Amino acid sequence: MAQATTLNYYKVLGVTQKTSKADLKKKYRELAKKYHPDTNSGSKSAEDKFKIISEAYDVLSDAKKRKSYDRERSYQKRSPRQPKGQPNWNSPPGGFGKGPNDNQQRYEEPFAQEPEPIDPDMPTSGFDLQFMIDVPLPDAALGGTINYSYDKYVRCEECEGTGTQGSDECSECQGKQLVVRPVTLDVKIPPGVADQYTLSFIKKGGEGRNGGPPGDLFLRVCVQPHPKFKRVKNDIIHEVTISSKLAEEGGAFEVETLNGTTSIQVEEETLIGEELRVPGEGSAIGWGKKRGDLIIKFNIEED
Ligand SMILES: [Zn+2]
Repeated sequence: MAQATTLNYYKVLGVTQKTSKADLKKKYRELAKKYHPDTNSGSKSAEDKFKIISEAYDVLSDAKKRKSYDRERSYQKRSPRQPKGQPNWNSPPGGFGKGPNDNQQRYEEPFAQEPEPIDPDMPTSGFDLQFMIDVPLPDAALGGTINYSYDKYVRCEECEGTGTQGSDECSECQGKQLVVRPVTLDVKIPPGVADQYTLSFIKKGGEGRNGGPPGDLFLRVCVQPHPKFKRVKNDIIHEVTISSKLAEEGGAFEVETLNGTTSIQVEEETLIGEELRVPGEGSAIGWGKKRGDLIIKFNIEED
């Protein structure tokens, strides 16, 4: 893969894109004098810097060369880089390469790592991925497993991750060594997980390059509304409708729970909106050590 120019010539000369031609020349002269081999008793690093300065001036002082250099740079800035820092939940699923690019950082100090260009063979870690996962309320309350599908960068099968096919760039991955593919993961939902909780899966993100480590996967739990149950902290509210006869006389009644059914005793003279607490039939607490309660709320049929 042809590695394009990675030096920031503006930084090298300590100028901006708005610097006038005269000032550009002035800056160049200052630096050239400073690093000229003759005034640095043949120092290799001064010689290297002198070459870079000359190269930078050669490009920036020539309108045509400068234009194509600027175009090249703006292209480089858009190329995907590894996201850093906090997961960005705004990025849609499949939003690869949306992380802040670190090119600018890399260019901060012109001579810090120069004149070595960025090595395309350097191990690079994979992308961290952040997605939402829809979790049915019973699974969030009591735990469960969800077969989750998502897209990520994996090693290109066509070129076996080399990025090349013979002497050509691999046509499948365009030399990137990686391709986007759907993958699935059995996601264990911890019992009692809260809505909006973030589950982390180390190394389940995008594949790295050149032997770099894979990124991580972060899944934000979105507890789905349930037609019958409502979760309030660790309790589950369940509204049931009973006949007016049962409400008046009382008696046994079968209700649905998170994981089955249970029989409750309706008291005599039960009124609309009255509640009955069934201990230990609610949502898990402390990742399953205890459980909250099931609260039955009565609705009464009109005759
Ligand atoms: Zn390939």
